[in-house]
Amino acid sequence: TLILAFETSCDETSVAVVENGTKILSNIVATQIDSHQRFGGVVPEVASRHHIEWITRCTDQALAEANVSYNDIAAVAVTYGPGLVGSLLIGVTAAKAIAWAHKLPLVPVNHMTGHLYAARYVGEFKYPQMALLVSGGHTELVYMKAEHEFEIIGETRDDAAGEAYDKIGRVLGVNYPAGKTIDEWAAKGEDTFHFPRAMEKEANYDFSFSGLKSAFINTVHNADQRGEKLNKYDLAASFQQSVVDVLAEKTMRALDRYPVKQLILAGGVAANHGLRSRLDRDMHKYHPDVTMLQAPLKLCGDNAAMIGAAGYMCYQHGDRAGMNLNAEPGLMYGRMK
Ligand code: ATP
Ligand code: MG
Ligand code: FE
Repeated sequence: TLILAFETSCDETSVAVVENGTKILSNIVATQIDSHQRFGGVVPEVASRHHIEWITRCTDQALAEANVSYNDIAAVAVTYGPGLVGSLLIGVTAAKAIAWAHKLPLVPVNHMTGHLYAARYVGEFKYPQMALLVSGGHTELVYMKAEHEFEIIGETRDDAAGEAYDKIGRVLGVNYPAGKTIDEWAAKGEDTFHFPRAMEKEANYDFSFSGLKSAFINTVHNADQRGEKLNKYDLAASFQQSVVDVLAEKTMRALDRYPVKQLILAGGVAANHGLRSRLDRDMHKYHPDVTMLQAPLKLCGDNAAMIGAAGYMCYQHGDRAGMNLNAEPGLMYGRMK
């Protein structure tokens, strides 16, 4: 079963052809990072224009690289939320047009389900399952009793983890998106600043990163005023240690409370080396019976292959949308079905 998948929720235009939700035949990702970098973040207007410009080329290339035609496709899957409304609309409209023209079923996919299913390329999913979803706009712990049953048990009360990386990166003069560079710097430094670890010990599964972000920015500004130059590697390492401590601690706490067979790590921030190795260690130590699937590094960021994997699962569950499918920028779990 071949799924033609579309992802345009933010600043990557991506189209993929995926077989049975487990094999990537093509995964074209046209990133717009260069166009947004000079603004220090994604500009929604610029993003949707890029999507319009690239969507047809990406689609043609995805089919060509997979060496298939529309006749071989079983269904069209598309991210319809959450994300930027103007960006989402381009993918949704393209998917609808293709589904209509080729009389194919249209499968609506939640972007966060997509992130989660990037891990499907590493191994089979086992339930009940927990996922730590860490991305540019979300930081959440998701409990899945069974396939296609998502329940958010904890989430950030302010900034997402990736957002915090991007904001403190800007203070250090790192281009958007800053996560990867800060991660590399962190490996060369040490936690000498001991920034706060918000809500680490609180008996819930929620997160907060804005206090850490403020503490970081104040530290840098105060040093600037004293004419002092702080070690950027130690700053990065200290920030990252704080983020990783809280994410790992809360995840372990969630696994104590909700017995599961498997832990999934996914989302853009799942590419973080500090986080990956810390979870490896903690899982081995505290939850040796729970297997962990970490999304492949290349599929942590936004891409259509993950939408194809999630789309295949949704397709099998009978999820279908009509030609009235609309973008849902604030889409959450539990609303679809
Ligand atoms: P969402 O998925 O919540 O809608 P998004 O799609 O914009 O948001 P992703 O593409 O999943 O987010 O992830 C992008 C984020 O991941 C950016 O904030 C980026 O800085 C961060 N990121 C990427 N690589 C790393 C890394 N190695 N360490 C930390 N953060 C990283
Ligand atoms: Mg992006
Ligand atoms: Fe994303």
